[in-house]
Amino acid sequence: MTAPRTKNNSPVLGPNEKAALAWAHTTRFLTTASKLDQLPAHELPEVAFVGRSNAGKSSSINALTQQRQLAFASKTPGRTQHINLFAVGPRDAPQMLLADLPGYGYAAVARDAKLRWQQVMADYLAERRNLTAVVQLVDSRHGLTELDLQLLQFVKPRVDSGEVKLLVVLTKCDKLGRKACAQALRDAQAALGEVAGEHADIGVLLFSVPHRTGLGDLACTVRGWVVPAAAMAPMDPVVEVPTEPDAAT
Ligand code: GDP
Repeated sequence: MTAPRTKNNSPVLGPNEKAALAWAHTTRFLTTASKLDQLPAHELPEVAFVGRSNAGKSSSINALTQQRQLAFASKTPGRTQHINLFAVGPRDAPQMLLADLPGYGYAAVARDAKLRWQQVMADYLAERRNLTAVVQLVDSRHGLTELDLQLLQFVKPRVDSGEVKLLVVLTKCDKLGRKACAQALRDAQAALGEVAGEHADIGVLLFSVPHRTGLGDLACTVRGWVVPAAAMAPMDPVVEVPTEPDAAT
C-alpha cells in the first residue's frame, strides 16, 4: 500500500513525524576534528552518519535537518576528511550530537590519505564511547557494496551486542520503480541478516530527498533513539521541508 501524499506529492506527516522533524531542524554545527582525540568528550548520545561518497549523505542530512547547507559545510575545503559534529535539541540543553563522518570510497583520494582515514573511521566506530547508533547511507540502486560491508565490520561487535543501533537508509529511491524499491529493501535486509547477531537492532529504510520518502521515519527513528518518550514534548510542526534543488544525479 502507498502512503498518502499531499497535493504536491509529499507524504502526509503525522504529528510524531512533524515533531521529530521540528526537533531535527534545531541541528547546528558544533565542531570539526581530524583526529579522534580532538573530538570533545561529552555525555550526550552520538549518532554517526556514514556512507560512500556520493551516496547522498549530505543531501539526506540537509533534508533531515531542513537546512540546505548544513552538511555541505562538511564538504568545504579542509573539512572533507574531518568528523563534523552537530548538536541537536534545545540550545541550552542539547540532546544528541550528530557526527557526519567523511564519505568513503572516493577514488581520487590518495592511498595514504585513504588508509589514514580508514583508520580514523575504524577507531571512531569501534571506540567512540557515546556512539548510540549508526545511520549508513547506501545508494538504493547499488545496494550494500563490499566497501559498505567492510565499514560495518568496524562496528559489528557493538551492533551485534545491541550497544549500537544501525539504520541503513537506501537513498535516491525516486530513481527506482516500485518493484525495484521492494527488491532493494529485501536485498539490503538479506545482506544485513547475514552480518547481524541476535541482539542487533537493525532497520532499513527507503529514502528520497526530492520525494521526501522516509523523511518522517528517519527523523522519528533518530529522535526515538535519544529522547525518552516521556520527554518528547510536541514542538511547533514544520510547515515546509525544503527539497534539494538539484537532486538529479
Ligand atoms: P554525499 O557525497 O554522500 O554527501 O552525496 P550528496 O548528498 O552530495 O549527493 C550526491 C548526488 O546525489 C548529488 O548530485 C545529489 O543531488 C544527488 N542525490 C542525493 N540524494 C538524492 C535523492 O534522494 N534523489 C536523487 N534523485 N538524487 C539525490
